[in-house]
Amino acid sequence: MIQKIGVIGAGQMGNGIAHVCALNGFDVVLSDIEAGQLEKAMKSIERNLERQVHSKRDDHRITDAEKKAALGRIHPFVGLDHFGDRDLVIEAATEKEEVKVQILKELCPVLKPEAIVATNTSSISITRLAAVTDRPAKFMGMHFMNPVPLMQLVELIRGLATDEETYRSIKELTEKLHKTAAPAEDFPAFIVNRILLPMINEAVYTLYEGVGTVEAIDTAMKLGANHPMGPLELADFIGLDTCLAVMQVLYDGLADSKYRPCPLLVKYVEAGWIGKKAGRGFYDYSGEKPIPTR
Ligand code: NAD
Repeated sequence: MIQKIGVIGAGQMGNGIAHVCALNGFDVVLSDIEAGQLEKAMKSIERNLERQVHSKRDDHRITDAEKKAALGRIHPFVGLDHFGDRDLVIEAATEKEEVKVQILKELCPVLKPEAIVATNTSSISITRLAAVTDRPAKFMGMHFMNPVPLMQLVELIRGLATDEETYRSIKELTEKLHKTAAPAEDFPAFIVNRILLPMINEAVYTLYEGVGTVEAIDTAMKLGANHPMGPLELADFIGLDTCLAVMQVLYDGLADSKYRPCPLLVKYVEAGWIGKKAGRGFYDYSGEKPIPTR
């Protein structure tokens, strides 16, 4: 039974996963390579839990005591030394295959043999990542959506070698976290991002070719297609580095030119304008309200 969870990567996804696991009673070790990221993550978890205390939604609201208890269950550490007693470790570090491979290679020797390892990758092959571990049968994809405390879906992706028991344990955990599981096959970017990211990439092409401004494109899709967020606003929220990484995986993995990343998306990432987390992407976040940059 899964009781103790480890989360690697304390960025926007890692902090959300730690938040939701702790709030549902699980003991969580949250780790990153940067102490500063851990500090930021703990502050944002506290802020987001506090928001839940004041939430108007009955199904989302928590008490102050629940908030404090959840915070007490999260233990932040730099490095991978504190994973020896974990039943499950969820890898949620930067979307780069070489980063994930390195983490998995360093992590496995620290773990107990029966521990399950899951990855929150948005696009990278689960089978390929599983193959670098010492436990491909106990490895699978557990793809949470952003922001984790608010989004209902978790895509569950089996690698070629994932065993039934591992899948069942992760499905059960998903239910205990009050999320809904959608099974997806191990193809590049799975279901949600296979559909969502080409749309975002097309929105960037629409901007690149001058069909519309940032504001016009986002307004058009909000009011014309009833999307709750415009595609460029959403790209900033996801992180343009992550968007580009997913498009590259689609382009390489499916070998179809329709997935080629828009050159403007590449330029923004090269400039470090990677969205909300960097203070600038298609919008500038330095003031009180986001201002479109084009
Ligand atoms: P992020 O950039 O906010 O955070 C990544 C974190 O990983 C950073 O804190 C970084 O310091 C840390 N990190 C990098 N190398 C590390 C290492 N070797 N060991 C430990 N920590 C390391 O990124 P994110 O948006 O949180 O994305 C994390 C993962 O979740 C990616 O695989 C991404 O594809 C996936 N994901 C992202 C979204 C989204 O909307 N952003 C949604 C679903 C899944």
